[in-house]
Amino acid sequence: MIKTNENIKIFQGNQIGGCVTVISSMVNGETHRIMIDYGSSLEGSGTVKDFDYPWDEEPVDAVFFTHYHGDHVGRIGEIPKSVKTLYMGETARKVMVNIQRALTRVKDMSVANEAKAELELLHDDERIITFKRTKYAYKHITDIPGFKIEPYSVDHSAYDAYMFLVEVEDDSLPGGKSVILHTGDFRGHGRRGKAMLPVINYYIRKYGNKEGIGIPKRNVDVLITEGTMISRADEPVLTEYELQLEATKFLHEHRYAFLICSSTNLDSLASFYQAAQDASVPYGRYLYTYNNYFKTQLDTFTNTAGKYTDLYKFENVYELDLEKELKRPEWTKPKTQKELMEYTGFLAVIKPAKWCESFIDPFIEDYKNGCIKEMPVIIYSMWDGYIDKSKDARKDEWIEFIELQEAKGVEIKHLHTSGHASVQMLTEVIKAVNPTRAVIPMHTEDAEGFKYLDMEESLKDKVTIG
Ligand SMILES: [Zn+2]
Repeated sequence: MIKTNENIKIFQGNQIGGCVTVISSMVNGETHRIMIDYGSSLEGSGTVKDFDYPWDEEPVDAVFFTHYHGDHVGRIGEIPKSVKTLYMGETARKVMVNIQRALTRVKDMSVANEAKAELELLHDDERIITFKRTKYAYKHITDIPGFKIEPYSVDHSAYDAYMFLVEVEDDSLPGGKSVILHTGDFRGHGRRGKAMLPVINYYIRKYGNKEGIGIPKRNVDVLITEGTMISRADEPVLTEYELQLEATKFLHEHRYAFLICSSTNLDSLASFYQAAQDASVPYGRYLYTYNNYFKTQLDTFTNTAGKYTDLYKFENVYELDLEKELKRPEWTKPKTQKELMEYTGFLAVIKPAKWCESFIDPFIEDYKNGCIKEMPVIIYSMWDGYIDKSKDARKDEWIEFIELQEAKGVEIKHLHTSGHASVQMLTEVIKAVNPTRAVIPMHTEDAEGFKYLDMEESLKDKVTIG
């Protein structure tokens, strides 16, 4: 655990995922606490059992969730009722509801029951509070004694993700208060990533106002930042747009494409969907999904993010059911879904699971029979670590699935970009925030690596490692 004299405690910060931050205030001798994220450790992080927070000894007033990934929200169901309020993004809440609703239908009763309880919690309007927008930013939260919390939208592979600027009062601190910026997971190379540095400059540091351009109106004392990519610095970082262009080229050459991508990675899903449309001009290409849950997530994104930009609108999405009979007035006889897919080309989301072979194999057979001219292909758009035999995080079922398809002659195209800030972006953020007292790395396997970033010695000296 990392503990600082700023009344910050970070649990499990020296791993990627499952990091929990607790900040306390002291007003008139009374202590109040907020927690940021209560997630589960990721597989392969080396953590067998997550720590248990001492809810009774160090009570928490509210928990703030940065985004909907399991390594940040995974333990929401374990938070006791004594914690009055749970704050999260409005769309994040909807995405989480979709996930839990799907889990209530699984065969494993303990999983289904847990999901039911979590669903009930997510629908509890007394406890769940979503961030409210004002004209230009999100409303500041001042409901917890000794705290002012400002949520700011960040770009991450989870949509509706936030960083938090926390102003905390405590008489024992220099000046009686401390300003803390907690980044959560973020990146600079997504479609909304270019907003990060301006937000830091104009909303967090408050540069460029009437009192004098070049002089910030607010200093940040402590920066708590994710550092996922410090230990993955050799991985190439494509921008989402570059990924989309490369996908367009690939889909132009391949009409029958399957896709392996997270159901909640809105930006990459949008990249592939747009690529499929651009590659198939003038007709566009339908998107198929392996189940109804995946389609529900896409519908949620269309109805939320899609209100702001067409880029996040998914139209013509259908569930895979190859033998389903389809009728259209302009057709002289009905077609099966497979016949339509072979006629128009497709992009179809699958899971790297054995049962999904039933979607791929009929197209391989038809290729061998000469019914279609191209073999189907698979785009793998997840972290390569999951299918790397040398990694602890590897998923054996996925590796087996990929190898099986390759053995059948199916091309696997690896096309993925990280949800996390590149080393260069991290450095730029630290420099822009320029904290007066400390830089605390979390969500990283290499906190030590922060001391070797390309920045001033004075900033390197502020790197605080637990
Ligand atoms: Zn994370």
